Amino acid sequence: MKTDLLIIGAGPFGLTMASHAKHLGIDFIIAGKAMEFWKNNMPQGMYLRSACDWHLDSENKSTIENYLATLNLVPADAEPISRDFYLSYVEWFQQQKKIDPLPVYINRLDYAGDHHFNAYTNRGEIIAADNVVIAVGFKYFMHIPPEFENILPAGSFSHTCDVADMTAMRGKRCLILGGRQSAFEWAALLNEAGASSVHISHRHKSPSFTAADWSWVNSLVDNMADNPGWFRNLSQEEKDAVSDKLWAEGRLKVEPWLEPRIMKDDIKLWPRTSLTACEKLTTGELNVSFDNDTKIIVDHIILATGYKVILSQIPFFTNGNILSELATNNGFPVLDEHFQTNLPGLFFTSMPAGQDFGPFFGFTISVRTSAKLIGKELIRNLKMV
Ligand SMILES: Cc1cc2nc3c(=O)[nH]c(=O)nc-3n(C[C@H](O)[C@H](O)[C@H](O)COP(=O)(O)OP(=O)(O)OC[C@H]3O[C@@H](n4cnc5c(N)ncnc54)[C@H](O)[C@@H]3O)c2cc1C
Repeated sequence: MKTDLLIIGAGPFGLTMASHAKHLGIDFIIAGKAMEFWKNNMPQGMYLRSACDWHLDSENKSTIENYLATLNLVPADAEPISRDFYLSYVEWFQQQKKIDPLPVYINRLDYAGDHHFNAYTNRGEIIAADNVVIAVGFKYFMHIPPEFENILPAGSFSHTCDVADMTAMRGKRCLILGGRQSAFEWAALLNEAGASSVHISHRHKSPSFTAADWSWVNSLVDNMADNPGWFRNLSQEEKDAVSDKLWAEGRLKVEPWLEPRIMKDDIKLWPRTSLTACEKLTTGELNVSFDNDTKIIVDHIILATGYKVILSQIPFFTNGNILSELATNNGFPVLDEHFQTNLPGLFFTSMPAGQDFGPFFGFTISVRTSAKLIGKELIRNLKMV
């Protein structure tokens, strides 16, 4: 197969990129399973923290509000948005835009010179592409802090992204390590799915049950479509201030609708604690020690420890020749103002773009700005103007 543009990944970033490429008349192939991470690695019953204004359409037509209107609903009827509602919106968006991803995995990606890439699929196809946008999202970047990996016996723990089906924990005593929204939401869902008890341990004090305010993020990200250098041109101090503000909303607060679901006898919070040891008993139970001299017995540990960009964990890089040629900084790809790497025609978006474009690029608010900026460069690359 040959294409002007191969988009690798069919989550929110890849689908919006595909829709924008179609709008611009660019020939493309989008590879990946539509919304696979949301379907397989986020639990049923999960609610989004973002609201209806974070839609996928760079043309502002197939918005979440317009989808709701087809159902005779308004945002207040749908918020907080459930994972299932969001998936139904994205399915509608795909239908509106006629975006039909090729449900394959790219196993290997090779750079064959300026604007020449060869991608190998798990079905044995080879896709020759002049440009490639990588939008593979979070899964490859699940973060297991070394201090936990060193202490926890093999097989005793899972990352939240591998515990989307809570029924597997029915009747079990679970310990969640982490102190952010996902730790609290997984605790509520485990409890509701019949876990016999849930403990949540984190080093800091427990976050407050207060609604996060993301309203200030929208204009910053939307304006970057015309001023893509805004974040990179801030001083380090200013960048830190922006990241701290996002951190404060996202990580120091837990949504208030979780409070009644958490404040229960069989959910116990362990603020300001660190794990110091974990012994697997002959019964298979885990004897866990904290630095406040307490011990608890649990059956399974769940790490709500987030995601961290490590490009070498993307399998199609390990198998291909790109990584040795790619310019990186702190483990992130170095991107120009149009998300392009030092290899002409190779673009990254989503979480790996966070260092150059700001921490918002781990969230769906950024899908439209990203698609618009990449689209402008693609048009230049393809000499369409
Ligand atoms: C628990 C949790 C809650 C969140 N809540 C929110 C929220 O409320 N609001 C918000 O804006 N964001 C939220 N996020 C962040 C959100 O998940 C990301 O912003 C978004 O999913 C990133 O989209 P993406 O398109 O980059 O990738 P993903 O959605 O991760 O999709 C990855 C895509 O890549 C494909 N893929 C992977 N490997 C290959 C390969 N080798 N070949 C081909 N295709 C491949 C997959 O099939 C899939 O289609 C949350 C994240 C988590 C973990």
